[in-house]
Amino acid sequence: MSEYITRAIVLGFEGKKEHDKVFDLYTESFGRIRVQSPGGRKILSKLSPHLDTADFATVKIIEKNNLTLADSFREEKITEKNGNAVFFARMLRVLSLVKRLSPEGLPDGGLWHFLGDARRRGEIDFRALLGHLGYGVENASCEECGSRRVTAFSEASQEFFCDACCLKLPGNNVLYL
Ligand SMILES: [Zn+2]
Repeated sequence: MSEYITRAIVLGFEGKKEHDKVFDLYTESFGRIRVQSPGGRKILSKLSPHLDTADFATVKIIEKNNLTLADSFREEKITEKNGNAVFFARMLRVLSLVKRLSPEGLPDGGLWHFLGDARRRGEIDFRALLGHLGYGVENASCEECGSRRVTAFSEASQEFFCDACCLKLPGNNVLYL
């Protein structure tokens, strides 16, 4: 059994009961990982706030047969209150992309700092994010027509599109750059 402490941002979670959840985290030390927060034993400290999507926290993780969240200390909660609705919505897109496109268990200091910077500045540059995830916009061209003026990225197919061609795509998974 090994124990680790690392900083993390919560990408999302599954499960409804407070002590029976599976969290997707992007961590400073290990990159993207999935950790169990198991039922039965209430191992989370009473002082720990309940972790939610987009929270930044320091977490203690125990590795035995799988990874278990043993404790957490929330550093900052990003919410849609206080006029932050647009930033919060953009942050949720960031977290969804990181969850889908970052390799599991591979730390990336550049991506970690990008996330911290976005939080501090309250601004998100999707082009820079895609670069960190291995989808550089500079050399991209439209998947349909070959134009170099790409303005959209499909999260579903992981392809770039220009203004005209992205109009033909189903809108819900398209990221406008
Ligand atoms: Zn095009």
